[in-house]
Amino acid sequence: MIYRFAISIFLPLLFVGCTSKKWYKGNTHVHTILCGHADTSPEAVTAWYHERGYNFLCLSEHNQFIDPATVKMPTDLRDDFILIPSEEVTGGEQAHSTALNIDGVVDPRLVQPSGASKTQVIQAHVYGAEQQHGHSILNHPNFHYRNSAEDIRPVEGLHMFELHNGHPAVNNFGDHEHDSVEEIWDDLLTDGMLIYGVSSDDAHKFQEIGLEHSNPGRGWVMVQADSLTPDSISEAMYHGNFYATSGVMLSLASVKDRQISVAVDQAGTERELSSPFVVGHEVADGKNEYKIQFIGPEGRVLEAVNGTKATYPVSEQHSYVRAKVIYTRKAGREYENFYAWMQPVFTDGRVHFVIQD
Ligand SMILES: [Zn+2]
Ligand SMILES: [Zn+2]
Repeated sequence: MIYRFAISIFLPLLFVGCTSKKWYKGNTHVHTILCGHADTSPEAVTAWYHERGYNFLCLSEHNQFIDPATVKMPTDLRDDFILIPSEEVTGGEQAHSTALNIDGVVDPRLVQPSGASKTQVIQAHVYGAEQQHGHSILNHPNFHYRNSAEDIRPVEGLHMFELHNGHPAVNNFGDHEHDSVEEIWDDLLTDGMLIYGVSSDDAHKFQEIGLEHSNPGRGWVMVQADSLTPDSISEAMYHGNFYATSGVMLSLASVKDRQISVAVDQAGTERELSSPFVVGHEVADGKNEYKIQFIGPEGRVLEAVNGTKATYPVSEQHSYVRAKVIYTRKAGREYENFYAWMQPVFTDGRVHFVIQD
């Protein structure tokens, strides 16, 4: 029996350490030698993430479905590591998306239908992923500044996009003429869209390491799910039960009794940031510190706290509120930022809650 409730405050039930749910680290977007412009086999790519403690990986090849059953897994395979069957639906100059947890290759006719607008191409990708019983994540919207908020907003059934992507050419932070992807996110959220922000590394190069290369380990998601299976992870993400990060780890990310609570896992963050693979966002000045911001419609900072812990009471005064953690550290003569982005809490009923028993 299924009871449906439309409730005014969406409670994603994220309680670190308070439920049977666990946190799983994963990357939804990576390439292999099979695409012709990356440098490492599916097996060796899988081993890279397995060795570094990830729990799941999507081998999201350009318009190719890599069946996980065909990938030889590491000989010392942990029981808390899985591949999620995926593909990067690559519609040329118009749009790319990860089809997450699919049964097979997305219908090639839906990749880049001729004469279609960018909105229609993204919509076709969503249908293509759904036909294969998966979910769609729109990838790197600021790559060549191809997908604006206006292109994305009308798409139906799209509930995830890459807020952060580790590839050096994707313009996460915009420029003097273009919005950052985070500004695009706030535009979409302000306009009523139900869309969650993903972070991935989109790695192509595992053999040469350098800022100019698309190396692994620069972005990932932490998903809170009942179990580690492709279905469980994919459904948890589709319902917003995750946070996106470029290096900052959280020990608390919860919404309870109309209050958002967030706390930094400092030891976990230090461990991640000691990796040679993470890349900070360069900023001209700052100081070594953690900051937590609560952000509402139009990207307005409703409250900012210096420190590693904060709470914020959500009220219907704002249609959504989301938390962002910024860690700043000195890097050479300048400073660099790392982030964790929690998903928004909605107060305007755009999320409907399904309780099953
Ligand atoms: Zn792409
Ligand atoms: Zn890609």
